[in-house]
Amino acid sequence: MRIRWPFRPGTIRGSLARVVLTTTGLALGLATLAFTLDSRARERRHLAHATAAVMDALESTAGNALLFRDEALAKEALDSLLVQPNVLGAGLYLPSGEPLARQGKRPGLLPDRPARLLKSGFEGDHLKAHQAVRVQGREVGSMLLIADATSLDREARRVLLAAAIIWIGAFIVASLWARSLALRLVQPLEALADSARRVAHSGDLHHRVPGAGPSELGRLMADYNAMLASLDEKDSEIKISRDHLEALVLDRTADLEAANAALARQTLTDPLTGLYNRRFIDMFLHEVVAQTARGYEDHRRGKVELPPFPDLVFYMVDIDHFKQVNDRFGHPAGDELLRQFSCRLQEALREMDTVVRWGGEEFFIVARSIHRDQGLVLAQRILEATRSKPFQLGAVVHPATCSVGFAPFPLDPDHPHDTPWERVVAFADRCLYAAKDSGRNGCVGLAGGPVDRAAQGAFLISGPDRPDWHLQQSFQGPLNWARGTPR
Ligand code: GH3
Ligand code: MG
Ligand code: MG
Repeated sequence: MRIRWPFRPGTIRGSLARVVLTTTGLALGLATLAFTLDSRARERRHLAHATAAVMDALESTAGNALLFRDEALAKEALDSLLVQPNVLGAGLYLPSGEPLARQGKRPGLLPDRPARLLKSGFEGDHLKAHQAVRVQGREVGSMLLIADATSLDREARRVLLAAAIIWIGAFIVASLWARSLALRLVQPLEALADSARRVAHSGDLHHRVPGAGPSELGRLMADYNAMLASLDEKDSEIKISRDHLEALVLDRTADLEAANAALARQTLTDPLTGLYNRRFIDMFLHEVVAQTARGYEDHRRGKVELPPFPDLVFYMVDIDHFKQVNDRFGHPAGDELLRQFSCRLQEALREMDTVVRWGGEEFFIVARSIHRDQGLVLAQRILEATRSKPFQLGAVVHPATCSVGFAPFPLDPDHPHDTPWERVVAFADRCLYAAKDSGRNGCVGLAGGPVDRAAQGAFLISGPDRPDWHLQQSFQGPLNWARGTPR
C-alpha cells in the first residue's frame, strides 16, 4: 500500500489534515487550561491543609508561650515555622489582640493587631491562616500565619499563558486553513455547477471551467474540461456531417426537381413545336372550365356580377393541304412549316391563351377571359397570321392557309353545366370541318345559346337547323355541312 504524505500543499486532503491538526491543538490548549486550573486549585487546597497541620503541631508550644507570656519561647516557636519555604511570616497574639511575638521574612507583613475574626483563606498571592490557641480547652490567644502562594500561581500563569498562545495560534491557523479549504471547495464546485447548467440549457460546449490544477478538484476540472473539449469536437464533427448531408440532400432534391420538371416538360409538351400536347389539356382544362362555369352559376344565383369577359372559346385549327407540303418538299419541310405555324399562332394570340398541338397539323386553342361575341375576331386573326405571308421552308417559299372551327364554353350561359367541355370541343371540330368543306382558308363557329340535346345531335350530323344556334363565319353564302361526324 502506498502511503501518502497527508500535508501535501494545494490539496484538499492536505488542507483537511491541517484543519484536523490545528483543531487538535485547540483541544489540547483547552485541556491544558482546564487541567492547570484544576491542579492550581488542588495545590492551594494542599497548602491550606499543610499550613493547618503545621499550626496544629505548634499549638501546645504556642499555647505555653502565650499562657506564660514567654516571648523567647514564642519566637523560638515562630522561627521553627519560618523554616518552611512557603511560610512568609507568623505571629502570636494575646487575647487582647496585642502581639506577643511576630516573625516575618518581609517587614510590615504581619499586622499590629490581627482581625478579630478568626479565619483562613487566600488573599491575593497569600494564604492567611488565623486560628485560636487553646490550653486545656481555654483560649489563651491566637496564631496568625502567612504563607506564599505566588510560586504556585506563577507556575499556573506560565502554563496558562503557553496554553493561551497555543490556543490562539491554533485558532488563527485553523480559521485560515478552514477558509482556504472552503474557497478551494466552493469556488470550483460553483464553476462546475455553472458549466453543467450552460451545457444542459444552451448546449454550449465551447467554454471551459477555470481553476484546473494539481488538487483533487483541480484534476476533476481538468478532466471535465477534457470531456467538454472531446464533446465539442464530436459535436463539430456531427454538425459538419449534418451540414454536408443537408447540402447533399438539397443537391439531390434540386436534381430531382429539375429531372421531374424536365420529365413533366417532356410528357406535357410536343418535342417538334415545343407547344403543350393533349395530356396537358387533360390536366389543365378541368379547373379552368369549372371556374368559368362557377362564374356563370354564381351570377345566375345572384351572388356576383358577371365579369365583362366571362367565357372560354375553344378553337380547332388545321393547316390546309398540308399533306402536299410533305409530298412536294419532303417531311423536314413539313416539320419546319409546323414549327413556323405554331410560332405564328402564338404571336397572333394573347399570353393568357393556351395553344396545344392536338395531333399532326391540327392545333387546339383555349382562349380565356373572352366574350363569346369576340370568337370570330380571334379566328380571323389566326387566318390572317397564316396567309399574310408565305412560309420560308429552307430554299422553298410556300404560301399556306388554315381552317378554323370554334365554339364557346359554356355553350348555354343559362345552364353552364349542361354541355360538358368535351362536347363543346366536338362542336368546334364539327365547325372546322364545315370550314374545310366550304372551301378552306376560313372559319366557322358557334355563338352559343339555349341547348337542346336533340338539336345538338342533329348539329353534329348536319349543322345547325335552329335559328337560336347563331353561327359566326367568314364565308359568304351557305356553308357545306356535308362531311361526317367529327372524330
Ligand atoms: P386538309 O386540307 O383536308 O387538312 O388536307 P391535309 O393534307 O392537310 O390533311 P391530311 O389529313 O390529308 O394530311 C395530313 C398529313 O400531315 C398526313 C401526315 O403524314 C402529315 N403529318 C402528320 N404529322 C406530321 C408531322 O409531324 N410532320 C410532318 N412533316 N407531317 C406530318
Ligand atoms: Mg390539314
Ligand atoms: Mg388534319
